Amino acid sequence: DCIFCKIAAGEVPSTKVYENEMAYAFEDLNPMMPVHTLVVPKKHYRNVADELPADELAALFEAVRAVAALKGVDESGFRIISNAGANAQQTVDHLHIHVLGGAPMNAGDPSRS
Ligand code: 5GP
Ligand code: ZN
Repeated sequence: DCIFCKIAAGEVPSTKVYENEMAYAFEDLNPMMPVHTLVVPKKHYRNVADELPADELAALFEAVRAVAALKGVDESGFRIISNAGANAQQTVDHLHIHVLGGAPMNAGDPSRS
């Protein structure tokens, strides 16, 4: 009963950016930056504190690289953020990596300003 499991499975609509065998990337519903894409493993993990098999980790970061290139921020620069747990204000308990870019960012966390 997890929203990102359903999105990754195509059971809940999303704006897909990229997909590989083990990871799925889609536009954030409430973008904080001109580029704000979420990358998730297709299998459910709570956050990066969970142990992921090497092939799933590799697929996750292959998807991050693909998103950066597809969104045109691989050269201009981008930031990845993965909130884990309550103090980080993780609101969806399915591991996700925010890919943020398209404008200059300060040294802090642009998704929490
Ligand atoms: P967190 O705060 O857990 O790091 O990030 C959760 C992110 O998921 C938020 O940026 C929020 O806008 C996004 N989000 C939550 N529910 C949905 C949804 O149903 N669809 C999409 N596309 N994004 C969502
Ligand atoms: Zn899930």
